[in-house]
Amino acid sequence: MAVRPFKKIMAANRGEIAIRIFRACTELGIGTVAIYSAEDRLSLHRYKADEAYQIGKGKGPIDAYLGINEIVELARAKGVDAIHPGYGFLSENAEFAEACERAGIAFIGPTAQIQRRLGNKVAAREVALAAGVPIVPGTPKPVNREEDALLFAKECGYPIIVKAAAGGGGRGMRVVRNQKELLEGLKSAASEAAAAFGDGTVFLEKFIENPKHIEVQIMGDQHGNLVHYFERDCSIQRRHQKVIELAPSPSLGEDKRRLVCDYAMKIAREVGYVNAGTVEFLMDKNGDFYFIETNPRIQVEHTVTELVTMRNLVQTQILVAQGYKLSDPEIGIKSQKDIELRGYAIQCRVTTEDPANNFAPDFGIIKAYRTAVGFGVRLDAANGYSGAVITPHYDSLLVKVSTWGLTFNDACRTMNRALQEFRVRGVKTNIGFLENVVNHAPFRAGQCDTSYLDTYPELFN
Ligand code: ADP
Repeated sequence: MAVRPFKKIMAANRGEIAIRIFRACTELGIGTVAIYSAEDRLSLHRYKADEAYQIGKGKGPIDAYLGINEIVELARAKGVDAIHPGYGFLSENAEFAEACERAGIAFIGPTAQIQRRLGNKVAAREVALAAGVPIVPGTPKPVNREEDALLFAKECGYPIIVKAAAGGGGRGMRVVRNQKELLEGLKSAASEAAAAFGDGTVFLEKFIENPKHIEVQIMGDQHGNLVHYFERDCSIQRRHQKVIELAPSPSLGEDKRRLVCDYAMKIAREVGYVNAGTVEFLMDKNGDFYFIETNPRIQVEHTVTELVTMRNLVQTQILVAQGYKLSDPEIGIKSQKDIELRGYAIQCRVTTEDPANNFAPDFGIIKAYRTAVGFGVRLDAANGYSGAVITPHYDSLLVKVSTWGLTFNDACRTMNRALQEFRVRGVKTNIGFLENVVNHAPFRAGQCDTSYLDTYPELFN
């Protein structure tokens, strides 16, 4: 297969990830195209690209970024060679990947066929089973009838987690501890999922108490070569959503690390994975891993993996989409051994949320914005500048602060210093809360599981 050079790439996304993509393109000498909604007309990602076009007139802030035909048509009209979907929006939409390919535009991500096998959690569990990877005990099929749910509860016992097959971002999930909650949870998870994802299909899993969330970054080229970039620990969560991510996990020994990476590679091989992806697991108190889902796209927390492996994942995505082999000098991964871990990295998601109002999203104009720099600090931001308008239309992520250190404690110290350096006035942020966590003894000891923030509610004060 010949390499197909890209001259121009469109980011079908907004905010920090669009800018992250543009940076990788510029480093590779590739032109950049931004799209933006009316609500995003002042957003920085628009100005960070060589060209920018408004889309979705009259459609509303979210739907603007979901118009497959309009986006593909625009890309074609502007001579775009490839589209990077980022995360969220159309990134896991197999129809979008197909529409790009039909228009002769490369989709920077796994094929529609791979997305279909992995994008749905019920289908992905089947892939894991076929690959010989342990999954959380659960219903093999979606649950449509109350009888089936009750039967599963009888076999497996409570607590149970009701999950949307199409779920993401912690939505469409309910932990239930008795029959009454189960029957209610079935209905509410289904309706939440139908509203959020246009698909109300739910299934049941045993709820594992106090697990760690461990996920493995994988990458495949179009020639059948696959590697992993070790694991991230994303156990620090609020309402099943990640808040702080670590790489590698400070609490895995070498044996466990090898095991979970092997499991991820089995799943990747089972589907002939192409481009970047993440295979997610829960690790219970005994140290046993259970596959939960695969995200066939770049993730918010890819930064920490880049810091500890010193490898640029977004550039690699673009290069493999052009047809380069992982072993080509442009990428330089001749074998798994070439990917090495060095030190520890932490990412904190700084959000515009009001601590005094139960961390509800806050809006307004940023009046002062001073960031952190210096050794070991990386920032990925979108609208961080004084004068920026924070609107209520999109998620509240303001800046991803990532730090690196030779030891986990070094990375924590740098994070603490970086967070202290920040000054954001005009909108409220969660920086004080993040500082509390980073200085908390159980966090420093690497002891956190997914129940951590519920166990220490004082960290929110
Ligand atoms: P999403 O796609 O919405 O991110 P996931 O399936 O990745 O959902 O799960 C998100 C988080 O929810 C996990 O990291 C974990 O904290 C919790 N979770 C999911 N499934 C289970 C389970 N079976 N037992 C315990 N916790 C779970």
